[in-house]
Amino acid sequence: MAEYTDDGLLLRRIPFSETSLICHILTAGHGRITVMARGARRPKSIFRATLAPLYRLQLTWRPGRSGGMGTLIDVIRHEQLVHETHMLDALEVIAVTNTLFQDGDPHGYAELHEAISLLDARQADEGQCAALWLLLERAGWLGDLFHCWHCGRQVVETDAMYWQSAHLLCGDCGNGVEVSAGLRKGMAGVIRQVNVHMSVQDRLRWRMMITGVLREHGVKLPDSFRQQG
Ligand SMILES: [Zn+2]
Repeated sequence: MAEYTDDGLLLRRIPFSETSLICHILTAGHGRITVMARGARRPKSIFRATLAPLYRLQLTWRPGRSGGMGTLIDVIRHEQLVHETHMLDALEVIAVTNTLFQDGDPHGYAELHEAISLLDARQADEGQCAALWLLLERAGWLGDLFHCWHCGRQVVETDAMYWQSAHLLCGDCGNGVEVSAGLRKGMAGVIRQVNVHMSVQDRLRWRMMITGVLREHGVKLPDSFRQQG
């Protein structure tokens, strides 16, 4: 029977029976897969220590019949993708990613890898916002920061826009919470460059926008987001 080997990032592991784990994984070339890691919960299992999130994993598995659950055969754990201080923020990004890309979706691995690298190179809070914004954009849930998401009109860089029902609107289409020119410039800057910083107020507003998009799409919010409501 065919076996595949590919790089992957672990999204989620769920206990199955007394000894096994079901793993949801984004692979570089095979999209999102679900595999059973038999015996992974046994103390001596090699899977037990290697199947961890936020590491680049090299996996070998046998695909399931007609696209169903496959069987994990081997895992090699390569480098850790984030510094220890960014772990919790990165795990929340993974929790959101888990809901964005479903089984059979060819996307996800490159997007998550890019988001995590972006997060790791920035200050914690700005980095997490930038990582989540990038993922939501790649998932097709966001427009760009300089066009109205309703009428499509390009908005002058120095004009304010408005946040309404998880959409960024021009002055003609919306009158919700103001998203200043400075905030939009800050968001674009943090996503593009490492050394751009935002005011606390701008960061909170950005987080509020991300929360709004996740809510709009029925995504369960990470804990730290719920506190900030
Ligand atoms: Zn408009």
